[in-house]
Amino acid sequence: FADHSELLRAHAAEHPDKLAIADEDERISWGELDALVERIAAKLQADGVGKGGAVAIVGLNSIAYGAVFLAAIRTGAAAAPLTTSATPEALTAMLIDSGARHLFADPAIPMEVPAGVERISLHDLNAWLPPEGARAAPVQVAPEDSFNIIYSSGTTGTPKGIVQSHQMRWNYLSRAAVYGPDAVALLSTPHYSNTTLVSFLPCLGAGGTVVLMKKFDARRFLELSERYRVTHTMLVPVQYRRLMALPDFDDFDLSSYRAKFCTSAPFAAELKRDILDRWPGGLVEFYGMTEGGASCMLVAHEHPDKLHTVGQVAPNSEMKLIDEDGNEVPPGGVGEVVGRGPMMMTGYNGRPDATRAAEWFDKDGRRFIRHGDVGRFDKDGFMILMDRTKDMIISGGFNIYPSDLEAVLAADPGVIEVAVVGVPHADWGETPVGFVVLRPGANKDDVLTAANGKLGKTQRLSALHVVDQLPRSAIGKVLKRELRDRLA
Ligand code: ATP
Ligand code: MG
Repeated sequence: FADHSELLRAHAAEHPDKLAIADEDERISWGELDALVERIAAKLQADGVGKGGAVAIVGLNSIAYGAVFLAAIRTGAAAAPLTTSATPEALTAMLIDSGARHLFADPAIPMEVPAGVERISLHDLNAWLPPEGARAAPVQVAPEDSFNIIYSSGTTGTPKGIVQSHQMRWNYLSRAAVYGPDAVALLSTPHYSNTTLVSFLPCLGAGGTVVLMKKFDARRFLELSERYRVTHTMLVPVQYRRLMALPDFDDFDLSSYRAKFCTSAPFAAELKRDILDRWPGGLVEFYGMTEGGASCMLVAHEHPDKLHTVGQVAPNSEMKLIDEDGNEVPPGGVGEVVGRGPMMMTGYNGRPDATRAAEWFDKDGRRFIRHGDVGRFDKDGFMILMDRTKDMIISGGFNIYPSDLEAVLAADPGVIEVAVVGVPHADWGETPVGFVVLRPGANKDDVLTAANGKLGKTQRLSALHVVDQLPRSAIGKVLKRELRDRLA
């Protein structure tokens, strides 16, 4: 079982002068990246870091961040990229949870570091590094060894530490062929998110070039796309929305693009259509979660009639739908998604109860992971994703799927963005309430009346609130729990 670094070393030997990573300040060649990763890994090894250990990293996307991440894996320890946007207290909790004794951090990050943990500045690795030319000792890893402790997005609560194995990493790498050695991937989501990792690892694994943005900016993204002749990117839906809304989007030369990926949140069919029409290259959507389990994949350019779905179950994966009692629902039925595949997490770090709660076993005792999402398969096996189980609304005994109401509101030309949540109601248990960002000139009462006119009697919205923007996590997911709190 080859370690990741073997692959990187081979690329570095083959094309040492080729650009490996560019961030907005610096550029590093494959030869330089290899030397830097080796030096960091050698020092970590000298400090006793290896298999079973962890190395924590927190900061904005940068070459140093990427190099430390790769160096951690090089030693056989798990990388532990912490959620940069978390509060200082949550960061310290994650650091302790990971068990790391090294924290590589941007100097600006305010967090307490417990005794026994060394904090090293990502802006000044040189002060800590061993002399140039130092190389790490060889390491042999097994498929079940952990390579990454990654935190879920925290959309529904506190982020959960998810232990990913080298088996999972191997699966990321199997996507390298999609990239190829001449790939240039522009990544603007935070490094600590799986969304970034699923491009970062295979692009470098293929010997390609990664361009990192510290902070997403739509215009700058398009400028960088032109400057580096970008071939691949991974973006979340709200980023696509901002890009497509730029008045001069069509003036940029994006002809170098071969494939664009999207994941992490509901991706509106109209938006996919607009991208297919105006942005060269393929478009592929992934539905999955940090925990792994299984994923669906929609190759949008090949299935323009399926843009309302998240696609078909990925190869080697299996997905089922279950009801509240844990029984499989009959074909065509609606249920909670459970999945198994080569990308299944080992478990939540140090939380056996949470791990057990996420598991579901079929009648042959095979382990599946609950996704916490409700969906159904259409007759062609494409998944129509509805809502998170936690966001479903039960009103007067009827199940209401916020996504149905959101689709009706989103189709109103006066509406830019929308989210629907359930709020407690004395008579019905819960009732749906909408939040919208409106176009200038649009009228809230008209939008509400029109939407309720199209909705079924049990689905009607009790109220509509106009907001300047929806609360979103750092990765761009709408935080429905914050909307519910606002109403409470
Ligand atoms: P937490 O588990 O901490 O509350 P999270 O579930 O948002 O946060 P992730 O693992 O980053 O953490 O996200 C997985 C979830 O994102 C899925 O369960 C699903 O709800 C949503 N998701 C992922 N891909 C898609 C997609 N293509 N379309 C719609 N939703 C998606
Ligand atoms: Mg989740």
